[in-house]
Amino acid sequence: MPELPEVETMRRGALPVVGAVVTGIARPACHLRPISVSPRLSSFARRVVGTRIRQLDRRGKRLLVWLDSDCAIVFEPRMTGLVLLSDPPSLDHLRLRLDLGESAVPHLWYWDRRGLGSIRLLDRRQVEQQLGSPHLGPDALTLDVGRLRERLGARRTPLKVALLDQSALAGVGNLYASEILHVARIHPQTRCDSLTAGQWRRLATSLHDVLEEAIRYEGSTLADGTYRTVLNNPGGYQNRHRVYDRAGQPCPTCGKSTVRRIVQAQRSTFFCPLCQRAK
Ligand SMILES: [Zn+2]
Repeated sequence: MPELPEVETMRRGALPVVGAVVTGIARPACHLRPISVSPRLSSFARRVVGTRIRQLDRRGKRLLVWLDSDCAIVFEPRMTGLVLLSDPPSLDHLRLRLDLGESAVPHLWYWDRRGLGSIRLLDRRQVEQQLGSPHLGPDALTLDVGRLRERLGARRTPLKVALLDQSALAGVGNLYASEILHVARIHPQTRCDSLTAGQWRRLATSLHDVLEEAIRYEGSTLADGTYRTVLNNPGGYQNRHRVYDRAGQPCPTCGKSTVRRIVQAQRSTFFCPLCQRAK
């Protein structure tokens, strides 16, 4: 978290900065351990101040702010990072500020409570090297059933674990993996190489349906309240979760069984044993 829907919501929300000129960059005073910024701020500033923001792009769970110098500022929010245009949830956790001219909004902020996120300035070649194959697979929303099967079909690992492998497909994290498998009616421990043709079709459909629905609802703000939109509003998809973090509650799909929690690769998985039967 944030996963693909949250970062796509950030991208869409931050679109008003396209066309703006970067007039300054600063780290606000922050007594917490500094986040990773590369290159160091003086060189960063030299390369971005005076450039114009050309477009906003997303690769998996990262937001790319492309400049007219053909470099991109890559924001990787990891656990608790946010890109904001106004009203940060706390001043303590503001990590970086871009000052903007010729713009509808005066600043773009990066806020990060735990500070595990990173900000990198990369040229186009570095973007392709560091954010392309083999490090990062194609974006989850670009995969049809054929390509999804091509990426995952030979693996002997449980499907839920494979969906989290960003080098196979980019953007799906722990929350949406459980939701996607529930909608596809596939047990999370099913081995990739044992899926039927019908299961692959259902998986591809639910991958798109769940992620796109979550984008429409502007992502999920969990009980810790960390994730916020660029205007510091909560997302709405948490109210639509079917299984995630609902262990012991009735399954909203069948109404007959209760949602179960298991641990796979040190992460919680939630599913309904009736809707998602093991073979
Ligand atoms: Zn069920």
